[in-house]
Amino acid sequence: MAVLDFKEIPEAHIATGLQDTFELFARDFLAFIGYKIITDPDRGADGGVDLVVEEKRTGVGGETVIRWLVSCKHKAHSGRSVNPVDDANIRDRVEANECNGFIGFYSTLASSGLASNLEGMNGRIETQIFDREKIESKLLHSAKGLQISERYFPVSLSEWRTENPQPAQIFSVAPSLKCNVCDKELFDQDDKGVVTLWTKDRIDYAAESEFIEQVSWTCRGRCDDLLQVRMRRDHPNLTDGWEDISDVMIPTIFIKWVMSILNQQRDGALYSDEAFSSLKSFMLRVFPYVSRHLTTQEKEQIEMLMLLPSYLGGLGYDG
Ligand SMILES: [Zn+2]
Repeated sequence: MAVLDFKEIPEAHIATGLQDTFELFARDFLAFIGYKIITDPDRGADGGVDLVVEEKRTGVGGETVIRWLVSCKHKAHSGRSVNPVDDANIRDRVEANECNGFIGFYSTLASSGLASNLEGMNGRIETQIFDREKIESKLLHSAKGLQISERYFPVSLSEWRTENPQPAQIFSVAPSLKCNVCDKELFDQDDKGVVTLWTKDRIDYAAESEFIEQVSWTCRGRCDDLLQVRMRRDHPNLTDGWEDISDVMIPTIFIKWVMSILNQQRDGALYSDEAFSSLKSFMLRVFPYVSRHLTTQEKEQIEMLMLLPSYLGGLGYDG
């Protein structure tokens, strides 16, 4: 599904006296992906040229410079594709401007007629099209691209950020949580692994307080299994209770989890120094991920969990 709504960029050629925003966007976008801007968008002298950019190619034979003529067509407001009449005489325009290539920069798509015209020019001039899908995919995959998107598509981007949360910048270093077994970064993995609280077995529940010996986090599967084996060998009197880290990274689950730890403490639970320090470290590391709005999917997940009582693993009240 498209993320960026190109209609956020005002329609071109409306006599406001301002330069066309879409052309400025094209300039910023092409500079961002590595082209050198030779002529800026200029309202006066169009003549079929919106922008000229250069590309340096380094090969075994040395450096080649390719000059590209850029044609910007902003038809998102009508939604129509760019046809051969909209972008006519391409080869003549490229040659008249002493360029070697043609870039079509379009907020919709190239019509099939235009696409086959361009194909026909292969061998004589180079051509390429940046349509809305190609532009979007380049922008959304880097921090610099997101900055440009923020400038030209503020509404789309704010919605996208809610659905694709990034950790909040709270501490001076990027958040990190490394598997206690293999040392791999858990935040980089799709499955964030599990956090495990190891509690001492109790014989007399009335007389003994809960005692948390260790808090650990690992990849799910092999690393978790290895840790279990190691812990059972070294500490035969411990029981493990685990949570999915991806669940704890949901803001609502996180605060619920913090509350349950506070309640446990109130009920007299004790921690080894190591376990307490690990628990604090874990919470600090996860916190940048939970300082945010819920995604739509998480909202649905939470609503479903609210229907379930807590003894069934839900978030609903049970008295
Ligand atoms: Zn691991």
